Amino acid sequence: MVAIRVSLPVPLRRSFDYEYEHPLAPGVRVRVPLGRRVLTGIVIEVPTEALPGITLRPILAVIDREPLLSSEQLRLLRFAADYYHHPLGEVLFAALPGALKRGDEAVTARAYGLTAMGLAAEAARFGRARRQAALWEAIKAAGILNESGLKALGPGFRPALRALMAQGLVEEREAPAPGSTLCPDGVVLRPDQRAACDAVRAAFGTFVAFLLFGVTGSGKTEVYLDLLAGVVEAGGQALVLVPEIGLTPQLVTRFEARLGTAIGTLHSACAAGERARVWSAAAAGRLGVVVGTRSAVFTPMKHLSLVIVDEEHDASFKQQDGFRYHARDLAVWRAKRLQVPVVLGSATPSLESYRHARERRYHLLTLPDRGPARALPSVRLIDLGRDRARDGLSAPMIAALRAHVARGEQALLFLNRRGYAPVLLCPQCRWHAPCDRCDARLTVHLGDRRLRCHHCGHERPLPTACPACGHEGLVRVGDGTERVEEGLRRALPGARVARVDRDTTGSRLAFNALLRKVRGHEIDVLVGTQMLAKGHDFPNMTLVGVIHADQGLHGNDFRADEQLFAQIVQVAGRAGRGDRPGQVLIQTHHPAHPLWVPLARLDYEAFAEAALQERRETAFPPYTHCALLRAEARKPEIALRFLEAAKRLAATPPEVRLGCILPAVLARRAGYHRAQLLATSAQRGALQSWLTAWLARVAEIPVAAQVRWSLDVDPYSLF
Ligand code: ADP
Ligand code: ZN
Ligand code: ZN
Repeated sequence: MVAIRVSLPVPLRRSFDYEYEHPLAPGVRVRVPLGRRVLTGIVIEVPTEALPGITLRPILAVIDREPLLSSEQLRLLRFAADYYHHPLGEVLFAALPGALKRGDEAVTARAYGLTAMGLAAEAARFGRARRQAALWEAIKAAGILNESGLKALGPGFRPALRALMAQGLVEEREAPAPGSTLCPDGVVLRPDQRAACDAVRAAFGTFVAFLLFGVTGSGKTEVYLDLLAGVVEAGGQALVLVPEIGLTPQLVTRFEARLGTAIGTLHSACAAGERARVWSAAAAGRLGVVVGTRSAVFTPMKHLSLVIVDEEHDASFKQQDGFRYHARDLAVWRAKRLQVPVVLGSATPSLESYRHARERRYHLLTLPDRGPARALPSVRLIDLGRDRARDGLSAPMIAALRAHVARGEQALLFLNRRGYAPVLLCPQCRWHAPCDRCDARLTVHLGDRRLRCHHCGHERPLPTACPACGHEGLVRVGDGTERVEEGLRRALPGARVARVDRDTTGSRLAFNALLRKVRGHEIDVLVGTQMLAKGHDFPNMTLVGVIHADQGLHGNDFRADEQLFAQIVQVAGRAGRGDRPGQVLIQTHHPAHPLWVPLARLDYEAFAEAALQERRETAFPPYTHCALLRAEARKPEIALRFLEAAKRLAATPPEVRLGCILPAVLARRAGYHRAQLLATSAQRGALQSWLTAWLARVAEIPVAAQVRWSLDVDPYSLF
C-alpha cells in the first residue's frame, strides 16, 4: 500500500491523503470518501516517505488510466492556487471542463451552405423559431459556415441546423480547403507588421513577452494570423485569448479561412460536452489553434508554442469572484515556464504591461498607424455647458448625425448606462426610488415599465405616483440608452435606429444577429453600452458619439482614468475603418479636464506617461502590489469585527503595509454589508509570503464562519 495525496473540490486550504495498492500518476481522477460523502478528487502527488502511524482511508476507484491534467497544467494550476491564495481543489476543478468527459471525437471538417430554396427564403417564414432565423441569417452572411462558426453562435444551434436541413434550406458542403477563397486576397503585411512578425518568429522556442501596441484597426489581427500560420505550419499549437465579447463567428471564420485548419473555441457559453471535446483534442495535439476567453488559459496543449492575448488590457481577463485569477498574467507565466513567446496586443495597453515594455522586460512592437489609406478619426469635444443636451443629445451631435446619415453612412452612440433614466425623483418630497437591498438607486426601465437595481437585480413595477407622498408628477432624471434611443427617433425621424445593451441584446444570439444587421447596413444609428466598444469592424461607420464621458472622469477607483481612456479609444476606433475618414464627438461638462488633452489626439503614449507618473507618486499599481481582503455579512458589525480581527493578527514585515478598514464604495449590496482591508507592498515576494502566513490564521478567526470573505490578489478595482 502507498499513500496518495489528493486534492478535493472543497473550500479548504489543504489536501487529503489516502492509500492505494500502487502509485498513481498526478492528474488522475479518483473517487474517495470524505466524512460520509464520496467525492471525485485529483491525485496531486505520491508522497515519497511513508506517513508514520496514521491509518489512511482507501481510494475507492480510479477513474482515469492516463492523467486528465498534464504535469505542465498541474504546475500552472498549483502556481495559480498559491499566487491567488485560493484552495487548490477549487482551482483544479474550476479549470476542468464541466463534463470531465474524455470525448475522443476529432474536430470535424463539416460545413454548411444555403440551398437555392434557402437563398430565396424570407426571414418571416421562421416566425418564432428565433434560432433557425438567426442561423439562416448567419449562413447567408458567411456564405459557408463551418463547424467552429456554428459553435461560436452559442450552444443549442444543432437542433436548428437539423430543422433547416429537414426543410431543404441548408445542405452540407465541403469545408473550405486550406488557403481557399474565403481568404481575402492580397493582404500583404506592411513593413511595421512584417517587422513585428519577424521579431516574434525569431523568438519561437524561447520565452519573450511582446507587447504589440497598435492603434485600433492597425492590423494586429493580421499579425496574429501570420504568426499562427507559422505555428501551424511547423506542427505546433497556439493559444489565443480574447475578451468575453471578442469571440464572434466572424472572428472564427476569419481565422479558419486564413489558416485553413479547424480551430477550437472555448467560451462561457460552450456546452460542457463541447468544452471537453476541445480539451481532449487540444491535449492530444490535434488542434493547431485554440481561441477562447478567460478560462481557456488552462487548456492543456501538448505542443503549445505560442500564446497570444488580444486586447490584453480588457477587464474580462480578471475573474471577479470565486477564484480571482488574471488570465493574462497566468498566460505570461505559462509561456515563461514553457519557454515560448507570448504576444500581448492592445491599442491601449494596461499600465502594467506598458510599464514592463518601458523598462524593457517586455519587447515593444509598435504599429503606429492604419496604413496609408485609412487615417485615425478626428476627435472634437462638445461643451455641454454651452450646448445643452436634450435626451442626451446636444445640437452639434444631432447635426453631425443628420449629416452622416444623409450621406448614407452609419453612426454609433455610446453610453454606458442602460435603462431610461438612472433616477426616479419626486419633486414634492425628494423621494428617490431606492433599492431596499443596496445603497443604490433603482433605474427606470420604460420598455417594460419596471424599476431595476443594476447591482442586485431587484426589480418592481414602475409607480405612477410617489409612494411616500402620493404626488403624481414623478420625474425621470438623467439619461440611459432607452432615453437616447427615444431622443434619436425624434431628432432623426427617418433613420433606422437600434439599441444594443443587455436588455435588447443579452444573448450571444441576439448580439450576433445585430452585428450582421449593422454590416448589412440595415441600421443607420446604433446606440448602446460598452458591448459595442470591442473589436468589431464596421467599414461604413464614420461617426462615433460619446454621450456622457463624465461618468468616468470622476470615478474614485485608481483605474478610472485608464478605463475611460481605453473605452473611448476603443469606441473611437469603430469610426472610419473603411475608406472614409471617421469623426468622434465627445459630450462633456468638463471640457478643461486634463484627460482630454491626450484623448483628443488619441495619444495613448502621452496618456500613459502621465498616468504612470501619477501611479508612482500615489503608490498605486503597477508600482505597488495590492491584495484586498473583502468581507460581507448581513450585519455590518460582523464584517467589521472580522476585518478588525484579521488586522490585529497581522504582524506585518516592514515592506508590507496594511491600510484602514473601509466600507466598500457600495457599502450594502443585495442585503450584505461590505467592507475591506487593503494590504500593499512594493515587493511582490514580500507581500506573497506574508499573505500565506496571514491567511492561514485569518481562516481561523472565530467570526469568519458568519462572514463571506475572500482575498483578491492584484484586484482590478478597489471598490
Ligand atoms: P486590429 O486587429 O489592429 O484592429 P485588423 O487586423 O482587424 O486590425 O485590421 C483592420 C482591417 O485592416 C482589416 O479589415 C484587415 O483585413 C485590414 N488590414 C490589416 N492589415 C492589412 C494589410 N497589410 N493590407 C491590407 N489590409 C490590411
Ligand atoms: Zn413624494
Ligand atoms: Zn439592489
